[in-house]
Parts: sequence; structure tokens; C-alpha cells
Amino acid sequence: MKIVIVDSSRVGLKIISSILEHQGHEICTFTDGSDAFDFIRNNLDVNLLLTGLELASMSGFELCWEVQLLSQRGRQIYILAMSSDHDKQKLIETLDSGADDFISKPPNEQELLARLRVAQRMQLMQEELVKLASLDSLTGILNRRAFFDRADLHCINANEGEALTAIMFDIDHFKRVNDVFGHDIGDVALTCVVGSAQRDFGLFARMGGEEFALLLPCTAKDRAMEIAEDLRADVENLKIETPQKPLRVTCSYGVSEWQKGDTICALLKRADLALYMAKEGGRNQVQFGQHTVKDCVPERSTNSRNICYVS
Ligand code: GH3
Ligand code: MG
Ligand code: MG
Repeated sequence: MKIVIVDSSRVGLKIISSILEHQGHEICTFTDGSDAFDFIRNNLDVNLLLTGLELASMSGFELCWEVQLLSQRGRQIYILAMSSDHDKQKLIETLDSGADDFISKPPNEQELLARLRVAQRMQLMQEELVKLASLDSLTGILNRRAFFDRADLHCINANEGEALTAIMFDIDHFKRVNDVFGHDIGDVALTCVVGSAQRDFGLFARMGGEEFALLLPCTAKDRAMEIAEDLRADVENLKIETPQKPLRVTCSYGVSEWQKGDTICALLKRADLALYMAKEGGRNQVQFGQHTVKDCVPERSTNSRNICYVS
């Protein structure tokens, strides 16, 4: 683990550091609470804070509080507070300030190591929970909620002038796939389509059913159109083996580009309307959404008469 230790005593810091370094942990030490907080804020790989309560410039309580606020914003930082004071009230205040656990000072070596093992177990469990809450269970890509959570940062950068594009795509006539091949093969098809679209780009999420979204940071319209066209061709070339006969599927794609004053919803709405145009235009194609939301048809019909093949 990468551990930040904060204490007013340099000797104390040295003793604890040498115990933890022997266990293979990466240690950074501070005597000042504000310096420690700045370091934690700027170093996203810090996963444990071990802090005394009497510090210079910022109290240990404040440090616990500020760091637990970072944890609420998606960082996973376990906070272990230490104090020579055995006052119950102090223990309660420390835990209320956001500390996850408490150890007396100077810490007993075996107790400290045991508490770090608890921290590691808690963090593994938390990582597992975050994964379960943010990934789609069938395809393993982000779910809708995680997509919106993570889109925020890219939207902030886009507002500052960075290029940002979105691609929405939907499997063509997927209901027919289920009807002809069965729901289980439909699930296999969904997984294969996702597998064929896995690339090293920004965010990729299952927005629901057989509909997916990609958010492409630092990518302008022309490149996004090329990417969508590549994805389209890759899906078209997929041959999914089934007990009956090989299954082929296609997808329709809508692309949109961030405009000044946009929101993630408006960007996706334009991509979705372009996807609607791709469906209406015959499916298995890419369209760009240049209309503003109010210029466009508000609802997407799922009853197009265009035929696309499922063989
Ligand atoms: P279009 O080309 O207009 O998109 O037609 P479509 O048939 O793909 O669209 P429609 O919305 O009529 O049907 C979508 C189907 O996707 C219906 C639903 O049963 C199926 N579906 C949604 N989620 C899953 C899933 O997790 N697994 C399987 N096998 N099917 C799913
Ligand atoms: Mg569909
Ligand atoms: Mg759909």
C-alpha cells in the first residue's frame, strides 16, 4: 500500500516508517497536516493515511475530515488515527471526523500490522463493491450510472476547449435474434458485439438492453466518425457460432460532437437522434448528429420497416 504517515514527532515517524517499510509498503511522512493533505490530494495512489491528532497548521481531526471528503468523491483512502490520549471522547470525535479505525500511540508493532491487514481487507471489499455497482454483469463494461459519473471530468475538460465526441450504437433487429436463436444466444451476441468494440478509448458503457455509448475524450468529429465506421465494419464481420447456424448481426451508430455550453445529456441526445437517423436510413450505418436537440424529432421509433439481415 502507499501510506502517508503524519505526526508531530520526527522520531515517531521514523520508527513507524521503518516497521511499515519492512513489510513492503511505500511510505511518505509529514509533520504538517496541510502538507500531508496536499500530497494526498495530488497523489491518487495513496490508499492509507495514518495520522496523529496533534499536528502543525491543521489538526488531525480536520485532516481526517478533509481526507474522508476525498473518499466520498471516489477516492479509496483508509484512515487510521493514532493518539497517546486514551480519552474515550477523543476516540469518538476521531471516528466521527471520518477515521475508519483508531490505534494508541506509540503503536504496538503487531497491533499496527494487524490493523493494516484489516485496512487491506476492507479496501479489497470496497473495490469489489465499486466494481459490482459500476459494471454491467453480462458484458463487463460500465453500466449507465457509472458512465454518467465518469463523464463529468471529460465534460469539464470539453468546456475548457478539449475535443469530446460521443458514439451511441444499437444492435439492429435484436428482438429477431432472440426470437430465432433464443435469449441465451442473444446474450452471447451482446457479449461478442461488446468484445469487438473493446478499444483503448475513453468510456464504454451498456446504456440498457442492446444499446451502448462511447465517450471519446480528445477526439474530434472526423476521427469519431472513422472510429464508428471501424466498429460498424467489425460487427458486420463477426460470425457468431451457434448450435443452429452462424449468426451475423449489425449495429447502427450515431455520432455527436461537444458544442460550447453543452451538457452530457445534450451530447448523448444528439448521438441518439443520429442513431435514429441511421436506423431510419436502413441500419448498419453511421450518422452524425448536427442538429440541436430542439431541432430534432423528440422520440425514437423502434418500428422501422427497413430490413436488416439476421442469418
Ligand atoms: P432496432 O433495429 O430498431 O433496434 O430493433 P430491435 O429489435 O433491436 O429493437 P427492440 O427495441 O424492438 O428490441 C430490443 C430487444 O433486445 C428486446 C429485448 O428482449 C432484447 N434485449 C434487451 N436486453 C437483453 C439482454 O440482456 N439479453 C438478450 N438476449 N436480449 C435482450
Ligand atoms: Mg436494437
Ligand atoms: Mg434498442
